[in-house]
Amino acid sequence: MFTTLQDRLAATFKGLRGKGRLSEADIEATTREIRTALLEADVALPVVREFIAAVRERARGAEVSQALNPVQQIIKIVNEELIGILGGETRRLRFAKTPPTVILLAGLQGAGKTTLAGKLALWLKGQGHQPLLVAADLQRPNAVNQLQVVGERAGVVVFAPEPGNGVGDPVAVARAAMAYARDKQHDVVVVDTAGRLGIDAELMQQAADIRDAVSPDEILYVVDAMVGQDAVTTAQAFLDGVGFSGVVLTKLDGDARGGAALSVAKVTGRQVMFASNGEGLGDFDAFHPDRMASRILGMGDMLTLIEQAERTFDQAQQAEMARKFSEGEDFTLDDFLQQMQQLRKMGSMSKIFGMLPGMGQFREQIENIDERDLDRTQAMIQSMTPTERRDPRILNASRRARIARGSGSSVSAVNDLVERFGQAQQMMRSLRGGGGMPIPGMPGF
Ligand code: GDP
Repeated sequence: MFTTLQDRLAATFKGLRGKGRLSEADIEATTREIRTALLEADVALPVVREFIAAVRERARGAEVSQALNPVQQIIKIVNEELIGILGGETRRLRFAKTPPTVILLAGLQGAGKTTLAGKLALWLKGQGHQPLLVAADLQRPNAVNQLQVVGERAGVVVFAPEPGNGVGDPVAVARAAMAYARDKQHDVVVVDTAGRLGIDAELMQQAADIRDAVSPDEILYVVDAMVGQDAVTTAQAFLDGVGFSGVVLTKLDGDARGGAALSVAKVTGRQVMFASNGEGLGDFDAFHPDRMASRILGMGDMLTLIEQAERTFDQAQQAEMARKFSEGEDFTLDDFLQQMQQLRKMGSMSKIFGMLPGMGQFREQIENIDERDLDRTQAMIQSMTPTERRDPRILNASRRARIARGSGSSVSAVNDLVERFGQAQQMMRSLRGGGGMPIPGMPGF
């Protein structure tokens, strides 16, 4: 996501390297390039104008700094202005003083509302809430069913009208859901509303009626980051028709330019609160303007990576692993398998590597990481007996052939794994005492 912007900005800053100070001409040329970069990324024109004016003014007024060279100085300015466009401070969900907190989802059909309802419910559940999902999208055939499927996957209750009654009344459903939530003590109610393919007065009215019936604490406008310039017009129409308090960007995993979606926050004055980056229920997170700016500028997003690791890594298992490591026990193939499985729970390798700083230049390699290599490695280890996993030295030719058959790979692949693992084990022995848990021998690295 935002790769066009990332690449363009990187090229711009590269051109400035080695300069002792920024002349007026440098500032002029640089801001012109940043302007093109933003426009190419589909950022709305008024937003671009304001951005460039601010960067130009600040670059001119910048003090000669001892600590920062001119390139760093301009990156700092661009970074701060980008954070500004993205909404400044991280905006958190507002919870009602007296539960249930009501969150209404609005947006065009296909924006990803229903999927988002499931993601949000799972996320809320992870934070100790008891969310209720409400199917108030009675327009689209199958929408109720889709929400039920998503709810089941997230392990949360879905309130839906009885099936088979034809087109129901979404306002009545929403009202009934509120009573149900109070009765069953759900502390957060997430209401999915109907979307249309385009802006539509009837749709706006229906969403507004549901809003009036449930008095939401938050109305989240869901916007597909793959849409182009229309995003801003549509967002404005929703702001006028239903109103919203926050924005959710979906499909950030796509390779679109994304600038239009970024402009929505600035143009509507509503902050982006969440971002979705995949079809899985876990591909979702709170949105932090500073971290996103940092990613756009190729500085990585270590904080999100660390948080995801904390959330997905089994703490007890990690502690056990650290103990083994510091007490001099050997790292076995079982440990390796465990580490690999934990790491993979965080998402695809390309997603994880994409969050590391300075990885922009390896984009092609990262995109070419073949997840199936990891599947194959996992299958090979799983085809080994516990004794073999503890001591791969006993792997003779017939055992290797059996493992290759069992995992659907070749003997040479098994040989390769055993050899790499042996090297990794050596490395671990020599690192002993250093603490930390590297992941050695990952295929492809
Ligand atoms: P709704 O009409 O607004 O309820 O949209 P849906 O939730 O049905 O989503 C429309 C399509 O977008 C579905 O195929 C989803 O799987 C897909 N989708 C939703 N969110 C994401 C995302 O973050 N990334 C990707 N790649 N696809 C998504």
